[in-house]
Order: sequence, then C-alpha cells, then structure tokens
Amino acid sequence: MPASVLAKGNAGRHGGGSMSGGKHGSALRQRIEVVEGDITRQTVDAIVNAANTALLGGGGVDGAIHRAAGPELLEECRMLGGCGTGQARITKGYRLPAKWIIHTVGPVWRDGRHGEDDLLRSCYRSCFALVEPHRIRTIAFPSISTGAYGFPMERAARVAVGETKTFLERNTSVENVRLVCFGSTAFQIHGEALEEVFRP
Ligand code: ADP
Repeated sequence: MPASVLAKGNAGRHGGGSMSGGKHGSALRQRIEVVEGDITRQTVDAIVNAANTALLGGGGVDGAIHRAAGPELLEECRMLGGCGTGQARITKGYRLPAKWIIHTVGPVWRDGRHGEDDLLRSCYRSCFALVEPHRIRTIAFPSISTGAYGFPMERAARVAVGETKTFLERNTSVENVRLVCFGSTAFQIHGEALEEVFRP
C-alpha cells in the first residue's frame, strides 16, 4: 500500500503540496496533514508559534507571526509575563487569518541528553491542552525548535507526528492538525515521519 498519498491541486490553499490520508488511512490519519507553506497564511482556527521564553517576539517563525499579526500581538504578549520551556500560552490572532495564536517555547538542542525530547513533547501536549477549552477544530504547527534552537528535524518530526497521533486518538473534536513545513526539505522529512509513525 502507499504509505502516504501526495494530494495535488490545493496549492492555493496551502501554498504547497500536501500529504495526508492514505488508502488504508483511518479517520484519524486523515485528520493529520503535512503541508509546505508559510504558517502565517494558514486559514485555521489556531496557529502555533515557536516563541522564546520572553514571548516578546524574535526571529524565524516568531518574527514572521508578529509581523503578520501586527503590533497588538506584542501588547497582549507583554501582559503574559513570559512562558517556560515546554509550556504554552494563547493570544488572539489579530490580523492573521487564524483566530488564535498558541505560543510555545521549544527546547534549545544541546546533545539530546538534556531532556530535549521530553520538552518538545511537552510543547505539543501543552498546545493540544488549549484546543478543547477554546473550541479549536483546526490547528497548524511549525516545526518547533528546528530553526535557531537546532533540534534535528527528523527527530523533531517524529515527536510532532507521534504527539499529534496520541492526541487525536483521544480527541474527537479536532478535524485537522496541519504540520506546516517551511521548504521542500522540511516537507519531505515530515512526510517520512508521517509514514513511519503510521506504518502498519
Ligand atoms: P526555534 O527557535 O523554535 O528553532 P525558528 O523560528 O528558528 O524557531 O524555527 C522553527 C521552524 O520554523 C524552522 O524549521 C523554520 O524553518 C520554520 N519557519 C520559519 N519561518 C516560518 C514560517 N513563516 N512558516 C512556517 N515555518 C517557518
């Protein structure tokens, strides 16, 4: 069986290709999607920001989200008083298509022996914990910690897909978890992680 299906024809919506579902994919598998694109452009209820502990903006995806959401986002973030590594905070989305932004702080990669995997898992769990209370049915994640924080992307992608699967196994309200990959290499790595985690 094909472990994943490359769905074409939705480039306008996602700004790239999409991998989801699969011939034998369960309903659960069809709720996870790997796309290539810019997270600030995603039309979903919530996007996740890979923030830093100060929550006052930064480079990478954090900078892009602050620029796209507008200055009101920084004002709200100032009132939050920061966020610990592995935790998450929620704000409004302001000028983004998304109603909400969930800010999470990924671990800085050292050597993999300093709790990095657990902290990254905790990021995904903390984000998912905010989904039901805010009635979020569609959510997009960037590849947390894999930019400036240096987490190896293959390993991070397995965490992302694995935690998403674990969450969707017990949740029935979320329709779409979208892993948004910045560039074709990231897209390929996440597609492979999706296949690996769902391999029968
Ligand atoms: P961290 O500090 O958690 O590593 P970065 O923002 O440096 O955060 O990078 C996290 C990931 O987000 C990287 O894989 C990077 O390529 C990706 N990224 C950067 N800009 C965007 C964007 N606009 N949309 C989606 N992903 C992005």
